Amino acid sequence: MRITHHPLLCPALGTQRQLTSFTFGETGAGPKAYIQASLHADELPGMLVAHHLRGLLEAAEQRGELLGEVVLVPMANPIGLSQTVMHHQIGRFELATMENFNRNYPDFFEVLKDELAAVLGADEAENKRVIRAAMRRALLAQAPKTELQCQRQTLMLLAHDADLVLDLHCDFEAVMHMYVEQACLPRLTPLAQRLGARALLWANGSGGSVSFDEALSGPWWRLRDHFSGRWPVPLACASTTVELRGQVDVSTAFAQQDAQAIYAYLQSEALISGAFAEAPLALCEATPLAGTESVLAPHSGVIAFACVPGDVVRAGQLLAEVVDPISGQSSKVTASINGVLYARQGLRWATAGFELCRIAGRESIRSGNLLSP
Ligand SMILES: [Zn+2]
Repeated sequence: MRITHHPLLCPALGTQRQLTSFTFGETGAGPKAYIQASLHADELPGMLVAHHLRGLLEAAEQRGELLGEVVLVPMANPIGLSQTVMHHQIGRFELATMENFNRNYPDFFEVLKDELAAVLGADEAENKRVIRAAMRRALLAQAPKTELQCQRQTLMLLAHDADLVLDLHCDFEAVMHMYVEQACLPRLTPLAQRLGARALLWANGSGGSVSFDEALSGPWWRLRDHFSGRWPVPLACASTTVELRGQVDVSTAFAQQDAQAIYAYLQSEALISGAFAEAPLALCEATPLAGTESVLAPHSGVIAFACVPGDVVRAGQLLAEVVDPISGQSSKVTASINGVLYARQGLRWATAGFELCRIAGRESIRSGNLLSP
């Protein structure tokens, strides 16, 4: 295992943070997987999974079983991890800018499509190399001015040439679920099976500012479609945001189980040799991200949930009551679709319009920006 420290731009005099990456196997020898944890710094299950995965990868490397390269960043957001405010850790947004740590990644398709039109050719493998080189040049040309921009650039430089990217997050209170782009479903459905995902949510772009996983898989299917009939472009990167249950689902048992599932998936993707079990049967079908219902509080009040993550709910089913103890008003909140309730809030206090929970349904019911802010 090679350890590399990546110093970030100094945000204030006397302050210096860094990212650390672990590299297993040989660069360029075979396929590359990139795995990072806790880009939202208050989402800790991934950090523990990364710890256990590291042990498995170190042992595999010592046995000479690495067929490709695995780059592991066990703590992807030192900025967010340092943001403790009045005893609460603020890990989703940078305090300095209020920007989400998992947004504003480069839109490589828009940045590169015109430049690539002049240099792509008939050789698909060569096109893959040319596109990755162009991505790298675009990243190196960024000249970040802030620590946050530097962190994004550093993570992208580590990940942009990977064939597989796993971005390990979690939700507030949730069952295992994953976000993928539709074109990546064939490659990533086996990972959902191995992790025991209860929702596998696909989109063709989430419609908002670019998240980490979209930045990496999105350009390939968009460039493939854009140059269709002219030049062949492979789907060279399959990336996913893995939601490792809820924020307090941090345990050795879960982390070992998830690390072993990821390890077996890497074996099935020819990154590591050795025997591995068949993927278990899927616990869910893939459903559109546009088919998720975001259930909102009708008014402010105390939330009394009548459902738990993992419940299979029917339209009309009671999900929660929101109670205003001053007026005495108690409002029943019900599902409007059938589906799996895959995540709910960690708080029990709702402001008006507060998102209470989310249900994964089969039919598309939404458009526009499909992700939370
Ligand atoms: Zn997250």
